[in-house]
Amino acid sequence: MANIKDEAKRILPQIVEWRRHIHAHPELGLETPETEAYIVKALEGMGFPSSSIKKGIGGHGVAAVLQGDIPGQTLAIRADLDALPIKEETGLSFAATNGNMHACAHDAHTAMALGAAKVLINHRRELKGSVKFIFQPAEETVIGAKAMIDDGVLENPKVNALIALHTGLLWKDFSVGQIGYSRGGMMASADRFLITLKGKGGHGATPHLTVDPISMAGQLICRLQTILSREINPVDPAVLTIGRIAGGSAYNIIPGECILEGTVRVLDVATRKMVEERIRELTVSTAESMGGEAMVEYTPGPPPVINNEAMTNKLIASAALLLGNDNVREIPEPSMGAEDVAYFLEQVPGTFFFHVGSNPDKGQTYPHHNSRFDIDEETLWIGSAIFAHFALNWQ
Ligand SMILES: [Zn+2]
Ligand SMILES: [Zn+2]
Repeated sequence: MANIKDEAKRILPQIVEWRRHIHAHPELGLETPETEAYIVKALEGMGFPSSSIKKGIGGHGVAAVLQGDIPGQTLAIRADLDALPIKEETGLSFAATNGNMHACAHDAHTAMALGAAKVLINHRRELKGSVKFIFQPAEETVIGAKAMIDDGVLENPKVNALIALHTGLLWKDFSVGQIGYSRGGMMASADRFLITLKGKGGHGATPHLTVDPISMAGQLICRLQTILSREINPVDPAVLTIGRIAGGSAYNIIPGECILEGTVRVLDVATRKMVEERIRELTVSTAESMGGEAMVEYTPGPPPVINNEAMTNKLIASAALLLGNDNVREIPEPSMGAEDVAYFLEQVPGTFFFHVGSNPDKGQTYPHHNSRFDIDEETLWIGSAIFAHFALNWQ
């Protein structure tokens, strides 16, 4: 077996160059045509024939297929490529100047996936099946993965397994260059709900002649929290946050309507369905018991990120071989944040792992989505090496 670690380290300057170019030219959401063109150029430059690259998937997504010489199944290596509407303040020589910023390291994810492609293209003879490199826009708005799936990115060839990573500072108590894994639920679903409580407005001095939606809201807020505290198994993580409440126009008027808006985050698919049903039931019953009416709009966001155990064990094996056992660690607890890689993992078994890419010794202590967020480029070979090693060994 070739020394994937040395090969990935050798191309680090190239990985850094890709990262810096993408970093300097951030694009948002589904509107990523320049990044798309740059990725296609990079793939062609390393020897991918144009016929193996498909662009414009789900907007400006790219997929490239590397066919191995040995028959087998298809692994997808997925990277996201979009940036954030943040004015960069890192002071880096390649800082973006267009008002947007790669403040979540998706530039690094794309560069690491390109690095894996560059390593693997020289190993076609040992490669079983094929590798499909998926470059996805609109992760931050959590619509890009679904857009690419709906546009057929998991077909032709059909994807049988998937691997992806997130770098940065997502979990604490890790050292730079280490890998964090999870064998099950790793990140939460992120749904949105909008509740409209309808009553009958009137004078604040005559509540008996009104149906008060503000009182309904007060009772409902308390009842909704009992879904979490009384109905869900306490060891099953769940969040229900009401982030917006709006009703009323003056201190002495009982309004006709009050609106509550919030988010539900869970790690379990059955819990997710149960919480939605109970929000509907409790909302309607609370409103009706007080003489009012209610409407619930429940908008599902990405599902929870659930890793496949067998795939995760294979990731651990590859990462431990490359980095040593001590540098491959289980994440201590899941995150209640969301990642739209979940849509891929809903369709195919796979694993999403944490690459510790921020280095406090280099002042990289700013959180994700901060205008000074940065990563340690010296670590970028690690993602490429793990992707490449996994691709050569997962089946
Ligand atoms: Zn982000
Ligand atoms: Zn991100």
